[in-house]
Amino acid sequence: MKFTGSTAKSMEIKVDLATGLIAGYPTLERNLSYMKNMFHDGKAYDSLLAKGDVRVYDFFDLKRPVNDRELACGTSIVYPGKVGDEYFMTKGHFHEVLDTAEVYYCLSGHGFMLMENPEGDWEVGEFVPGQAVYVPGRYAHRSINVSPSEPLKTFFCFRADAGHDYATIESKGFRKLMVEKNGEPAIIDNPRWK
Ligand code: MN
Repeated sequence: MKFTGSTAKSMEIKVDLATGLIAGYPTLERNLSYMKNMFHDGKAYDSLLAKGDVRVYDFFDLKRPVNDRELACGTSIVYPGKVGDEYFMTKGHFHEVLDTAEVYYCLSGHGFMLMENPEGDWEVGEFVPGQAVYVPGRYAHRSINVSPSEPLKTFFCFRADAGHDYATIESKGFRKLMVEKNGEPAIIDNPRWK
C-alpha cells in the first residue's frame, strides 16, 4: 500500500528472504582472494584459491548520510564453505568510532557472531532465524556460517557515522577462531594472532 505524509523521509527496505538481496542496491562482493591471511590454514587457503576465487560473502549497505543522527543498515550474506577446518566468514571489523554498537538480525541460516574487544575479552552470539545479536560498542565483530549448505543471511543496523576499521583485523586477526572439530563448531586460539 502507498500512503504519503508531508515529510516523506521514510524508506521501505525490501529484503528478498530467499536470496538476502535488497532490490535497487549494489552488492559488495567479497571473494576468497579478498580474505588473504584471514584463515589460519594458509596451505588450505592457497589450494582452495587455486581451484577458483569463490564468493565468500556479500553485503548491501543502504547509502544513508554519514552523521550521528542517521542509521546505516543492510544485509550480509555469508556463503557456506570452509578453508581447511575453518568456516567461511566475513573479514570482520572494529568501528572507527570504537564504542558504537550494532545489531544483526538473522533472517535465515545458522551461524555465529564472534566478538572481541581490544583488551581481549571475547564473546560469541548464535545466529538462528529470528534471533538477533547485539554487538556492544568496542567489540570487533565477524559473522561465521557453520551450515554446510545454506547461506547465512543477516540484517544489520548501526549508527551511520561509526565507520569501519578493517586494518586492525587485517594486521592482527581475531584472537579466537571458529573451526569445525568432530563435526561441531569449536572456538580455538588463533595461532597467527599478533
Ligand atoms: Mn559493524
